[in-house]
Amino acid sequence: MVEIEIDENACVGCGSCVDDCPNDVYEMDEAKNKTKVVNADDCMACLSCHEICPAEAMEHKNIHVAKRLYIDRRVNDILNKII
Ligand code: SF4
Ligand code: SF4
Repeated sequence: MVEIEIDENACVGCGSCVDDCPNDVYEMDEAKNKTKVVNADDCMACLSCHEICPAEAMEHKNIHVAKRLYIDRRVNDILNKII
């Protein structure tokens, strides 16, 4: 499972990560005006939030790149004709 850490000292509470995440991993903590992780299990490690954060306030750990198991034979046929 991906682990997400938010540096509360760095977070400026802009909410961009909340709006940007397709899987609703974050919510704003209105009292603190900081984002918080509420649904880390659904993080697919796209790192879109990481790219968009203006404060570089988040860190993602325990990311494993998925092995490519599916092979489209039509693509392979085309590649074999080209190369
Ligand atoms: S890496 Fe992607 S899925 Fe995970 S919290 Fe960020 S935007 Fe959401
Ligand atoms: S994008 Fe960064 S600065 Fe903005 S709320 Fe999220 S963690 Fe905080």
